[in-house]
Amino acid sequence: MTQAKSSPAAKRKQRPAKTNQSRKKAPSVDNPGKVLKRSRYSKAEAYAIFQRFHADNPEPEGELDYVNAYTLLVAVVLSAQATDVGVNRATKHLFQIADTPEKMVALGEERVREEIRTIGLFKTKAKNVILLSEQLIRDHASNVPEDREALEKLPGVGRKTANVVLNIFFGHPTIAVDTHLFRLGNRIGIAPGKTPLDVERAMEKAVPEAFSLHAHHWLILHGRYICKARKPECKRCVIYDLCKSPEKERFDAVPDNALRAKAQIEKERIA
Ligand code: SF4
Repeated sequence: MTQAKSSPAAKRKQRPAKTNQSRKKAPSVDNPGKVLKRSRYSKAEAYAIFQRFHADNPEPEGELDYVNAYTLLVAVVLSAQATDVGVNRATKHLFQIADTPEKMVALGEERVREEIRTIGLFKTKAKNVILLSEQLIRDHASNVPEDREALEKLPGVGRKTANVVLNIFFGHPTIAVDTHLFRLGNRIGIAPGKTPLDVERAMEKAVPEAFSLHAHHWLILHGRYICKARKPECKRCVIYDLCKSPEKERFDAVPDNALRAKAQIEKERIA
């Protein structure tokens, strides 16, 4: 027995209706779109990239102001979804009056809220700063623990914040994946991944050991000022000739910086 053919209208009816979930999302920090399976770069190529970053900026530094491990931790907690410049503006006075967990707790949540009210999510952040200060006093003798697990147990502290503190203050070769680093890892294909943790793991594999301490800073600064989200400044990029991103072709690039950096490395090698 032959089956009756369904009409085009009946076929349309059978298709599942499009929902918001089934629509393709734009690539973002949570959703990079199509992800490469592995790095586009060989070990030698990755080495050359970090050698360029090193030649361009041998001692890169973070841009958050702090006076000790505790104020660094607080500054990083405050920097979520805020600019470093904005955080520095707010903490300038706060850290003058409260640079220890005890002083912060004595100040109280309401006063902390007033001090940081120019920063996004200031109510939640003020609450977390007080809670984490109380926890540091109670569980860590008022010290910031040099331990990822202990750091991540503090209110408002996630993996990224813990990695920043471990890297900047304690000198661990950790990679904190923020929006810039996530974009860079996927865009140039050096550390592709669907989630920040994927990118962190891939970056740990890609970064040569000799450059692992400063890799985090170089990548963040590169993503923030050169390989920007909407329009990467390829013509100012020191790794232009090494970069394998298909996106760089979209911009009219004159790689002066890349050529200068390459010439400098060659000069040093000959000398
Ligand atoms: S060449 Fe362009 S796309 Fe490649 S890393 Fe530099 S700024 Fe980014």
